[in-house]
Amino acid sequence: MKKYNFNPGPSILPEFTIKNTAEAVLNLNGSGLSVMEISHRSKDFVAIMDKSVELMKEILSIPDGYSVVFLHGGASLQFLMIPYNFLNTKAAYLDTGSWASKAIKEAKELGEVVVVASSKESNYNHIPRNYTIPADVDYFHITTNNTIFGTEIKHDMDSPVPLIADASSDILSRPMDVSKYSLIYAGAQKNLGPAGVAVVIIKDTMLEKIKPNVPTMLNYKIHVDNNSLYNTPPCLAVYACLQTLIWLKDMGGLNKIHKVNLEKAKLLYDEIDSNRLFVPGVTDAEDRSVMNVTFVMKEEYKDMEAKFLEFASSQGLIGIKGHRSVGGFRASIYNAMSLEGVQALVNAMKDFAKQV
Ligand SMILES: *Cc1c(COP(=O)(O)O)cnc(C)c1O
Repeated sequence: MKKYNFNPGPSILPEFTIKNTAEAVLNLNGSGLSVMEISHRSKDFVAIMDKSVELMKEILSIPDGYSVVFLHGGASLQFLMIPYNFLNTKAAYLDTGSWASKAIKEAKELGEVVVVASSKESNYNHIPRNYTIPADVDYFHITTNNTIFGTEIKHDMDSPVPLIADASSDILSRPMDVSKYSLIYAGAQKNLGPAGVAVVIIKDTMLEKIKPNVPTMLNYKIHVDNNSLYNTPPCLAVYACLQTLIWLKDMGGLNKIHKVNLEKAKLLYDEIDSNRLFVPGVTDAEDRSVMNVTFVMKEEYKDMEAKFLEFASSQGLIGIKGHRSVGGFRASIYNAMSLEGVQALVNAMKDFAKQV
């Protein structure tokens, strides 16, 4: 049976990425060597790194004056690196979920944090509105997509201070106006590649603002100046990311994938809204994530949740159990998930409703 992988992360990757990476593990470009056993300073690997940076810039239309680096430590290390480099006195954060609050926790160790708004009281089921970004802070940090709760900030906002975004779970899912941001970071394992690497897009003028005495490995400038090769990068993970970038460019880039992503999300949200068994995790359509769709069963059917998971799994639908802090279900429908996969989930929801 065909399996459809709705895991939140690590998550589905294009078959193109997996096949090409498997091949390169055995024999990179006919060299007779594995991509895992060549020097990161070899011509072959430097070309892989350079091409990955070039495609990131091309696909995301990153303007001049920005650098792209691939770093170890996942998105979570960025929670620390950002305040370590840029928090002088005060920083502002928008608290939209667990990842945002983890980022806040790290910043609080290093300076004053202003939480401009939080949706914690309602278990993060919406994106707060009507807040003011203070003008006297070093930066403003947002999480563009809240992987666990299924909310997303789908527009590129204006900010009076440098805007920093954790885009781990929606990077490359839509065109983005990078010029509005001073720094964008993403752990690769949601929409780009395997775990073990994070991509950081940083405005070069930010490099001049880095505080003194930042430890070498945590210093953005060191990584930018060394083209992500200060120490040995996660070579295999970067190679896999490159394959996804090639796949994305070949399939038509962000305008194309965004259209498909919107179509997938609409199909699933429409079913959640109309199926008598389910209710959406996020009611305001404006806040609904295009990448992580959360839903639960109506009160009167709550005890059927385990049964539906079992039924879905029997249909080859993998990874739709909701996060423990939300319950119910979550379907992660990242770039690599096909419309056909979402249709299979919708069909299972319809079929299950007929049985109940
Ligand atoms: C998964 C995720 C993270 C954590 O990523 P790691 O690479 O495991 O550190 C942070 N932020 C968001 C929005 C995520 O989805």
